[in-house]
Amino acid sequence: MIISVASGKGGTGKTTVAVNLALSIPNVQLLDCDVEEPNAHIFIKPSIKNRMPVFILVPEVDKTRCNFCGKCKEVCAYNAIAVLKKDVLVFKELCHGCGACAYLCPEGAIKEVNKEIGFVEIGEKDNLQFAHGKLKIGEAMSPPLIKAVKQYMNPTRTVIVDIPPGTSCPVIEAIKRSDYCVLVTEPTPFGLYDLILAIEVIRKLKIPFGVVINRADLGNRKTEDYCHKENIPILMKIPFKKEIAKAYSRGEIIIETLPEYKKSFQQLFSKIGT
Ligand code: SF4
Ligand code: SF4
Repeated sequence: MIISVASGKGGTGKTTVAVNLALSIPNVQLLDCDVEEPNAHIFIKPSIKNRMPVFILVPEVDKTRCNFCGKCKEVCAYNAIAVLKKDVLVFKELCHGCGACAYLCPEGAIKEVNKEIGFVEIGEKDNLQFAHGKLKIGEAMSPPLIKAVKQYMNPTRTVIVDIPPGTSCPVIEAIKRSDYCVLVTEPTPFGLYDLILAIEVIRKLKIPFGVVINRADLGNRKTEDYCHKENIPILMKIPFKKEIAKAYSRGEIIIETLPEYKKSFQQLFSKIGT
């Protein structure tokens, strides 16, 4: 079973839920696909066994063969190529590596070369298998790296995927093919607004989902009322507690600092399975 843990916005406690859920149930693999800012490893502290660079193919133009016809510029949906009178400029940071320009160049003047966008690391902590990706600083192409992390998915385990925050392309790439999505939110007007956007995306992807309300005793009741009205299961409510905040700020795991929460995360898992 593949369980995504997502949130419409950052800072809701998504990684906290993913990590504590992963450590509360047996036979789990945790994939941190929040590749722009992976931080599950700070809590898990896995021993890393392997680190693999990840590349995409970007065009390189042979100007001695180019006739400056502009076809590559026309076909590029991402404005990654500019054709001038006697020059072709490739903006590699905008290139999505789709290969269309090389395929359609009538002069065969474009070859594709590797560009490193980041790396994947795999490791383990006790019986937990772990993998994450880290995008290079200044790099914008996170979907290929997310795909690379997901290639290490172990189908014999319950896979928990930490999804990037928001509702854009990287979220879709990370969340697709999940069997269930846990949406983590907080009971504030901003939290509810972003939760509704995230729900729109998950509904389009036709993935079953439920909500975890973090810091549930702060803010207002509007998030709960919304979930009841929309018939969305509230899987768990995590109260605002000084001990939880302190554990988080020290990079500690809730269920280790407050072991009574292990049962709550196990109950969360059984609600997903039923
Ligand atoms: S399509 Fe090929 S020949 Fe035409 S401008 Fe681009 S690189 Fe040059
Ligand atoms: S590979 Fe695709 S995205 Fe990159 S420059 Fe060529 S057409 Fe544009």
